[in-house]
Amino acid sequence: MWNFEEFVRAAGVTVDELAAYVAESQAGAVPVIRRRPPGELAERLGLARWIREGGMTAEAYREFLRGYLAEGTRMHHPAYLGHQIAAPDFPAALGDFVHGAANNPMAVYEMGASAATVEFEVLRWMLDTVGFGEAGGGVLTHGGSLANLTALLAARAAAAPGAWTDGVPGDLALLAPASAHYSLSRAAAILGLGERAVMPLDVDGLGRVDVARLPDALERVREAGRRPMALVANACATGTGLYDDLRGIGEFCAAADVWFHVDGAHGASALLAAEHRHLLDGIELADSLIWDAHKMLRTSSLAAAVLTRREGDLDAAFQQRASYLFYGEQGFDLIGRTVECSKAELGLKIFLNLAWRGERGLGEHVARRYATAHRFWELARERPGFECPYEPESNIVCFRYGTGDPVDVRERLMADGAFQLTSAEIGGARHLRVTVMAPATDDKTLEALLDRIAELGNPRIQEGR
Ligand SMILES: *Cc1c(COP(=O)(O)O)cnc(C)c1O
Repeated sequence: MWNFEEFVRAAGVTVDELAAYVAESQAGAVPVIRRRPPGELAERLGLARWIREGGMTAEAYREFLRGYLAEGTRMHHPAYLGHQIAAPDFPAALGDFVHGAANNPMAVYEMGASAATVEFEVLRWMLDTVGFGEAGGGVLTHGGSLANLTALLAARAAAAPGAWTDGVPGDLALLAPASAHYSLSRAAAILGLGERAVMPLDVDGLGRVDVARLPDALERVREAGRRPMALVANACATGTGLYDDLRGIGEFCAAADVWFHVDGAHGASALLAAEHRHLLDGIELADSLIWDAHKMLRTSSLAAAVLTRREGDLDAAFQQRASYLFYGEQGFDLIGRTVECSKAELGLKIFLNLAWRGERGLGEHVARRYATAHRFWELARERPGFECPYEPESNIVCFRYGTGDPVDVRERLMADGAFQLTSAEIGGARHLRVTVMAPATDDKTLEALLDRIAELGNPRIQEGR
């Protein structure tokens, strides 16, 4: 049984250390990442000894936790401009803590009535926000990749209802732009369609779906002797942060009777920001949609929603019956809609952020990060040598500087832990890529990044050092 005195002491240590860690990260006075090799890190943290001997105490844990946090990646740091992972807000962190202790794996209602009800109400809120309303259905999964797989499973059930029992017919196709997230082609392979069933949609120079050429794509599918299982649009695309024309694509899909899947993992949260909502115009035409909370809704990883316009479509995705689980006398057993069996209390962390900040507060978070990214674009454009292939629509910006190799520049920026950013390919050319996730990122950060890149890319300055 728990030793409460020890628990309270250790929890206090956790709170103190986390508060200091986030404060120090937000202030940006420490490296955003350290890149110690794993062997050295394991040694430093004493992992082998702790694993073999145990015996940690609250005080030893404080030391361990400090080292552990210091060697990780600091999402709250102003110079964290890397992958699309949230700097979580503390209400969501409390939700994780509560789950860690109470552990109600609420895929079946009787294993966590309050957790299941919270998830259900969070989903109702998401369905209303998207415009699916009462008729829609949803479920939370551990991440966007699993959410995409689940949505496509629903699409497969609609296109080939016998696939669950008889296996997958060989003529299904998934239409998607090459800019779609890799989890979609993975899903096609996992679902038994095979990667070759993924047929590319025509795109513009920035990877956005060319609506006028959708009929040609459908024609190619038919000529190949296939039928479309689903057509995918980005809202927004991972690489560029640009949104596809959801209304144009949605209207085409409705007319052609093709399942329309919107990957809103990153960008669906812009629905909460009045000045950006237009980017998702037409989203209500989607048959299925995914929306990650651990990107722009400031929860920890992972919490993603799968939403369908018709609730029955999601219920058709999994046709398995396990008699010991599915009796459904009371409440709702969301287990019928997920790959997972037991599942974390994912709704709680989204709920607590909403309860604390309101949808308005979360919308402001989105709008501010989008504005900071736009500001970066403005600053970069003013400087000689910087090239930005497009005006950003979200908190993701791609750019190049001079003739330097972006991969090399990125390595050098990260080497001393001053900045973390990524790179992406646009029209065959590699670009540096900035994603503004942390509220601490400001003009000073952006100017410092531009200075540093200009310095790295300019051989004359380097020789003079
Ligand atoms: C991040 C992302 C995913 C994958 O989500 P995970 O939660 O990381 O599995 C899928 N699609 C898009 C557009 C994304 O940005």
